Amino acid sequence: RVKTDGRHGYRFFTPEMHARAQRNLQLVNALRYALDRRQLNVYYQPQADMHSGRVIGAEALLRWNHPEFGMVSPAEFIPVAEDSGLILPIGEWVLQTAVRQAKTWLAQGLGPLTMAVNLSAAQFSHPALPDVVTRILAEEGLPPEYLELELTEGVSMQNPEAAIAVMNNLHQRGVRMSIDDFGTGYSSLSYLKKFKVYKLKIDQSFVRDISTDSEDKAIVSAVISLAGSLGLRTIAEGVETIEQREFLREQGCQEIQGYLFGKPMPSEQFEVFLRQSTVYSASAF
Ligand code: C2E
Ligand code: MG
Ligand code: MG
Ligand code: MG
Repeated sequence: RVKTDGRHGYRFFTPEMHARAQRNLQLVNALRYALDRRQLNVYYQPQADMHSGRVIGAEALLRWNHPEFGMVSPAEFIPVAEDSGLILPIGEWVLQTAVRQAKTWLAQGLGPLTMAVNLSAAQFSHPALPDVVTRILAEEGLPPEYLELELTEGVSMQNPEAAIAVMNNLHQRGVRMSIDDFGTGYSSLSYLKKFKVYKLKIDQSFVRDISTDSEDKAIVSAVISLAGSLGLRTIAEGVETIEQREFLREQGCQEIQGYLFGKPMPSEQFEVFLRQSTVYSASAF
């Protein structure tokens, strides 16, 4: 039964929905100009080796600073970019920017460092993706093994057979892939075996209460051991405390990413972070 609001008959569009739709419309209009107006910026969050504490990678995270709206969260504008199709040009710009940055750090001897870039479903299912990736790597002069593409389970499970083909293609070109937010989507374990995936990223929702919640503990250890038996690496996202890190380390998780180690930061700041951590890595950890 459809609910009514009592006065105007059938209610299918609440004031909250209206406000949301208006905000989305404002955002999509502003997002069209964001690239040209240089409002978009890529931040980098360190990924560290669990044992040595060395920075071994960075995740590129998009930031939008709008003159009127201020900093808009990716959680809010990425869906808008996806719905409007703007994610294609924006995503390509992120990829090029991140690959260029990775090449710069590599050339400066600040590494070796893998650069992880998030891909949306529309990018992943676009037939030109493998060529776009190859062209950008060639233009920037970055060897493919330094690039890691992050896909969510939703992206890969939308059409698993097609996903297998795209992953095989990218894998042949030497690019690595990881499954982001692992455990939050519906992934079929039988497909996981067929996907050319290199790493599972344990979602931060499982990490948050890992020190106290026995179910989260169980889930996380199961994911780590599953990954291990499939020959995949694991990285935990959203690690904020030493307790969380210790539990993950004991379970055999190989990498961590989270505020405990470092927040997402602009490239200049990341560079300072890198220079310091190559000197202090083991002791600071
Ligand atoms: P994600 O790919 O799972 O990225 C991890 C998110 O967790 C980032 O949020 C990061 O800032 C946050 N995070 C990392 N460590 C911690 C921690 O210790 N505690 C807490 N509370 N949070 C932590 P962010 O940057 O807001 O991005 C949100 C999501 O937006 C990303 O989730 C990703 O799905 C999407 N996104 C960001 N940049 C891009 C992009 O360039 N392209 C696409 N397609 N999606 C992007
Ligand atoms: Mg990610
Ligand atoms: Mg994630
Ligand atoms: Mg996420």
